[in-house]
Amino acid sequence: MKITIFKRLAFGYAAIMLMIIFIGIYLPFKLKQINDLTRSIAEIDGAGIRIAKHLQETIYAQVGFGNKFLVSKDRDFLNEFKKIHDYAREEMTKLESLIDNSEKKGAFEKARNLYLVYLSKFEVDIKRLGKNSDYPVQKYIEENIRLGDKINKKLEQLIKIAGSDGEKKIELSNRISSHVFRVASFIAVLSVFMGVLISFFNTKSITRPILLLQKQTEEIARGKFYKISNINSPPEIKELSDHFNRMCERLKELDNMKTDFISYVSHELRTPLTAIKTATSMLRDGSYAGRKGKQDELLDIVNEECARLIKSVNRILDLSRMEVDMMDYRFSKCSIIPVIQKSILKVAPVAELNRINLELKPYPDLPLVIIDEEMIAQVMDNLIGNALKFTSERDSVIVNLNISQVKKGFVEVSVSDTGIGIDKKHLNLIFEKFKRIDEKIETARGSGLGLSITKYIITAHGGKIWVQSEPGKGSTFFFTLPVA
Ligand code: ADP
Repeated sequence: MKITIFKRLAFGYAAIMLMIIFIGIYLPFKLKQINDLTRSIAEIDGAGIRIAKHLQETIYAQVGFGNKFLVSKDRDFLNEFKKIHDYAREEMTKLESLIDNSEKKGAFEKARNLYLVYLSKFEVDIKRLGKNSDYPVQKYIEENIRLGDKINKKLEQLIKIAGSDGEKKIELSNRISSHVFRVASFIAVLSVFMGVLISFFNTKSITRPILLLQKQTEEIARGKFYKISNINSPPEIKELSDHFNRMCERLKELDNMKTDFISYVSHELRTPLTAIKTATSMLRDGSYAGRKGKQDELLDIVNEECARLIKSVNRILDLSRMEVDMMDYRFSKCSIIPVIQKSILKVAPVAELNRINLELKPYPDLPLVIIDEEMIAQVMDNLIGNALKFTSERDSVIVNLNISQVKKGFVEVSVSDTGIGIDKKHLNLIFEKFKRIDEKIETARGSGLGLSITKYIITAHGGKIWVQSEPGKGSTFFFTLPVA
């Protein structure tokens, strides 16, 4: 199956479109991934590290103020401790909201528990401090500093985890970016490559046959009617080339017709005109002055040739009218037998002269037909005339009347002769105008119009005309006419 131009272009563009659609979906998806990672690095890991560091400093400061209070019992230090404690709690809540994995959660929970241990221990220290003035301050302070260090170590661990998480995310984001770059570059290059390839093949498959058509058109302009064969092209151009071939055939026919017409003019018009000119010149020159008999003979020639010319011109005019469907027919219901008998009577002397047996075989009870009598007489004159023209002495011509076997409701007339017959290759041509097949035969002058006029007349009557023939054995022309 050949692919149409429309499908070729549509498939090509669809393939490129699909790639553009893919990249259109893929790119925003990947960019969102990168965006999420960047935001996660900035808002979770970065912010987490910042808060955790701040919390470390806060807890150091809190432990410092706690210890200072334990040593000095100055309530200002205790107030500072409490203020920092509130602040540290807020920071811890913020930090907790940024925990996004179990590792971070583990480190954070440990730091918070240690912080809670420190706070409850500090409470106990204060209570002890109130009851007992002789308490081991140095020991408490050292314990508290150790606890503070432990908390900060856990926070340090959290910072490290967040840092390595951030690095992993940056690495992933880099990997995605380079993948996106590779895919986008590949698709871009592929689209350009495919675009060029598809355009190239499409253009080539369309322009190649068009160039061929162009070349053939130039050949036609030079008068060479070559057909295009086996054109490998999309169906639209294949159709165009089929039309081109038909046009070529038609032009060839018209060209042949022109040649036939010129030969018709030279035969049918020039010969009588030359005869008339010669005869009138002889009369004017006085070649036969005083010889009435010879002068009458010349005048008869002029008269005959004039009649022949008028007949020829009338035939051309009739044919032209028939071609444009402007011929007037006067149809009437009648029997066809007298029409045929009249035609036979007209040519009977010629048949007798050539000792040709001319016979009419009428069908019994033949129905009436609707015909233009004059036109059908013309058909019979032509068919019987041809039969006699192409039949040798002592042969026979039989006009046969019948009821059409093919389609009831038609009368079939056939004119058979045992003459020269027609070659198979010419059978289709003889009904064309100006067509005369007289390769080897020296027949009487003919116009080549008789059978084409006959065909027009029979067709106008709603009938059909055809021929069966065998060279050397004779021909039979059949035609049908509708029953009234
Ligand atoms: P024309 O006036 O030259 O006879 P037609 O149109 O009547 O023209 O016939 C066309 C050609 O058909 C003739 O030139 C002849 O070659 C062929 N033809 C017609 N009738 C017969 C026939 N009965 N036998 C052989 N050839 C025939």
